[in-house]
Amino acid sequence: MVEVRNLKKVYEAQGRRVEAIGNITFSISRGEFACIVGPSGAGKTTLLKCLAGLVTPTAGDVVLDGDPVTGPPRGMAVVFQEYGRSLFPWKTVQQNIDLPLRQKGLPRAERDRLVSEALAAVSLADAGRAYPWQLSGGMQQRVAIARAVAYEPHVLLMDEPFAAVDAQTRADLEDLVRKLWRDLGITTLFVTHDIDESVYLGERVIVLSASPTHVLDDVRIDLPAE
Ligand code: ADP
Ligand code: ADP
Repeated sequence: MVEVRNLKKVYEAQGRRVEAIGNITFSISRGEFACIVGPSGAGKTTLLKCLAGLVTPTAGDVVLDGDPVTGPPRGMAVVFQEYGRSLFPWKTVQQNIDLPLRQKGLPRAERDRLVSEALAAVSLADAGRAYPWQLSGGMQQRVAIARAVAYEPHVLLMDEPFAAVDAQTRADLEDLVRKLWRDLGITTLFVTHDIDESVYLGERVIVLSASPTHVLDDVRIDLPAE
């Protein structure tokens, strides 16, 4: 359902050329949980931004359900590392989750249902009226996940979403993400530099090498049964 074909990205900054992605080809099937792992600078964020239509590739294509991605595609939702910056501080938790649903043009009743289901799914049913700054970092990241899930994306993209939280919170959030994937069957692409996290979470691990960036390995993991 997601195909990345001969993707290449070169940034030109202050007369310097940086090849962020050399030549990457892989595809993800519907319902899959794939981790993309690689060292810092391997081009992981760039790859994710190309998938999300936020960065234009220098060459190659991203194809979602047969259609080339040329701008922000409606079927993708992204959870970034900096939860503090991805939520709007002057909006309540509920309003933050509702905003993309409004942009989608959904009617009020359906939005309300999706918002409360998503809050329940991340165990924040009572936090709808709170403001993000009243919540801990881990809770804010739960809100970001709820917002992404409420959007009912074809693909959930996560960019090192738990790199900035403490170990216990991170373990809780990892379990939450895995549970959401199992329960909802959302196709999930999870980017991390942490090989342990990638092997723990994903049923597939795509390993990127740095300079020149390419797919070094692509392995299947047998996940423990529920
Ligand atoms: P990763 O997420 O694996 O750390 P990135 O995609 O962030 O890798 O970066 C890959 C390379 O591209 C790095 O060398 C980085 O410095 C460079 N890079 C990333 N974004 C830009 C940009 N906007 N302009 C110039 N170079 C960039
Ligand atoms: P606009 O006025 O341009 O429609 P909004 O004020 O509705 O924008 O949204 C502000 C910003 O929030 C936009 O840059 C948009 O890209 C971003 N945004 C919307 N939905 C999401 C989401 N699900 N995750 C992260 N950012 C989002």
